[in-house]
Amino acid sequence: MSISKVLINWYNQNKRDLPWRETNNPYIIWVSEIILQQTRVNQGISYFYRFIEQYPDIKSLASDPIDNILRLWQGLGYYSRARNMYQTANTIVNEYNGLFPKEYSEIIKLKGIGEYTAAAIASFCFNEPVAVIDGNVHRFISRFYGINDPIASSKGKFIFKKLANEIIDNLNPGIHNQAIMEFGALICTPKNPQCSNCPLNEECYAFINNQVSELPIKKKKNKISKRYFNYLHITYNDKTFIEKRVDNDIWNSLYQLPLIETNVKSTLKELEDQPLWFNLFEKTNIKIIHVSELIKHQLSHQQLHTRFYRIEIDNPNNYIQSNYISVNHSDIHQYGIPKLIDNYFANSLY
Ligand code: SF4
Repeated sequence: MSISKVLINWYNQNKRDLPWRETNNPYIIWVSEIILQQTRVNQGISYFYRFIEQYPDIKSLASDPIDNILRLWQGLGYYSRARNMYQTANTIVNEYNGLFPKEYSEIIKLKGIGEYTAAAIASFCFNEPVAVIDGNVHRFISRFYGINDPIASSKGKFIFKKLANEIIDNLNPGIHNQAIMEFGALICTPKNPQCSNCPLNEECYAFINNQVSELPIKKKKNKISKRYFNYLHITYNDKTFIEKRVDNDIWNSLYQLPLIETNVKSTLKELEDQPLWFNLFEKTNIKIIHVSELIKHQLSHQQLHTRFYRIEIDNPNNYIQSNYISVNHSDIHQYGIPKLIDNYFANSLY
């Protein structure tokens, strides 16, 4: 029996019941794949339902303001993915008459859709025989064939792609792709794979040669940079002040409190010497109500060390009025804000 046949048989008996498995609608598959790129399946399901309820089709996504989409995306991180989805939804509505293109070569041209997602949509929805290679597929192939090149290398990428496309079932590429991914997720797992129950263990290189824990070869970890954020939660009566992030940086287009970023951990005294502090509080009486602990917040390539300063003012000066948006505290969640600030509000007494 071919490898694909074994995987598909296993899949038909063991697959998890997931909402996006009930359809071959490319819009639904696209949304689920983008959500799953940034969260585990169990957490992703609730986001998926919320997203599909709000935006049941591509036209509803394309026609809503981006701020609403970012707000819904809150907590998933990687906000650029939500922005790319919005752009792609508009491209499909305007240039493809609202219909997803059917071929891999066209799908991959869309903003934010890479090789993996394009292969998933083309094979699941349109039965095009193009292999998906996610972490699960990579791990299975590396172990089964004994490939010790890292997938991040150009040689590794070439080999994994070639093998994945060689074993695909040309008549059932969509099921094959789902089967191999599910197999990697449930049987050929990163830790403690179920080799003794694996229907392919007699042919598996890593199992036969006792190399399961050595494969796949891990890529070098990216260097994590540290940043120091000092957020000023400035309140005036029931108002607080926020701004939109616009730089080409994390959280682009989300809203935040006035921020003083420093190169190292800073004291209140040191912040008071910063030009922004002077601008915000010139000709204003201030009262420091609360200073938070230093909070460590991990992003993919950055570690944010953040402190929140709750500061009451007796009148907002011209600078604050012209550079920040004044919002009622109860309305703050109408704005898309990063999880870090959302957590602060959830835990702070206003
Ligand atoms: S025998 Fe173990 S390592 Fe090999 S494919 Fe099966 S689960 Fe993966």
